[in-house]
Amino acid sequence: MPNVLCAWCGALIGQSEAEDSHGICRTCYRDLRGIPDLSSTELDGLPFGVIVLAEHGTILAYNQAESRLAKREPLSVIGRNFFTEIAPCTSVQAFLGAFREFCHGNEPSRTFQFTFPFPDGPVRVVIVFLHKGKDVTVAVRKCLGQNA
Ligand SMILES: [Zn+2]
Repeated sequence: MPNVLCAWCGALIGQSEAEDSHGICRTCYRDLRGIPDLSSTELDGLPFGVIVLAEHGTILAYNQAESRLAKREPLSVIGRNFFTEIAPCTSVQAFLGAFREFCHGNEPSRTFQFTFPFPDGPVRVVIVFLHKGKDVTVAVRKCLGQNA
């Protein structure tokens, strides 16, 4: 049986299909579920990227780790549209399509991998969507095995 690793932290979950949904270990999942309740100051203290998007993609929050990853200043992106202005590479079914489905669905979270074509080269990331009222919290972490 292949090892199943947590998509978020890389910890071994088990030897077969994970019992926990989403391929994320219990500890990470509990932490991730708490993110939508954090203040922007608390978001800035996290070691991974967090973006809060309104239903149509307007950026409501953008934390420091995401700023470092994408090399953009939070103040220059907040209030703009993530899918059309900031990261047009995400205007594809794999990201925007998933976002729309998630907005209008009942899943508590959704996890998938995505490659951002940053100027310095492509970066493979794990994305987790979480509901924040009518908005969506997007957690972003580089896939394991890439240089920090
Ligand atoms: Zn984990």
